[in-house]
Amino acid sequence: MTTERGAELAVLNDEVRACPLCDLSRTRTRAVPGEGPVDADVMFIGEAPGFHEDKQGRPFIGPAGQLLNELLESVDLDRGKVYITNVVKCRPPNNRDPMPQEIAACAPYLERQIAIIKPKVVVTLGRYSMAKFFPGVSISKIHGQPKRIGNTYYFPMYHPAAALHQASLLSVVRADMLKLPAILDEARAIGVGESDDTPMAPEEPPVQLGLFDL
Ligand code: URA
Ligand code: SF4
Repeated sequence: MTTERGAELAVLNDEVRACPLCDLSRTRTRAVPGEGPVDADVMFIGEAPGFHEDKQGRPFIGPAGQLLNELLESVDLDRGKVYITNVVKCRPPNNRDPMPQEIAACAPYLERQIAIIKPKVVVTLGRYSMAKFFPGVSISKIHGQPKRIGNTYYFPMYHPAAALHQASLLSVVRADMLKLPAILDEARAIGVGESDDTPMAPEEPPVQLGLFDL
């Protein structure tokens, strides 16, 4: 039930806000668990909170967030209807890249968020998020190409902040986002018309993709 899942998510959020599991806990102002409805069909996963997110405890509210909002509007997706989170829930000092041990320490939170929310489409924003699901591949090769694993679609995109720093990526990010509605339609159609809840056979075994391997 949605209320039970909401309660589970609330517990997780409290754990994240008080989390001592890596060194980022010592330099953060506020941890940023993520935000959005527990029954969201789409989950966006960024890299790590930045300056503004660290101050307010909310994801994607700075310049990269403004671009994300604009991208969502371009496909008529209401920000309030999607779930938005990050690979690492606390800001790395001076926005440096998250370190492997920080990513590893934080991974169970993301795994639990996915297990609770059960998004139909997971949109990865940037390399670190992509690497959770597609280890060892280059974002320049696979951005904009959805991959179905089981009943979930994974859709890798460049990070909005990268597009803000590199003008040539802006049109790429905009074009990739325009593909999202069709992917969402496909994902929503999975299982429709079936007589029971039996999951459809996965197109490819998830093991091959090393889900959550770092
Ligand atoms: N960049 C991210 O990856 N996440 C945020 O929440 C903000 C900026
Ligand atoms: Fe805990 Fe993740 Fe924050 Fe590290 S980044 S302190 S593991 S919530």
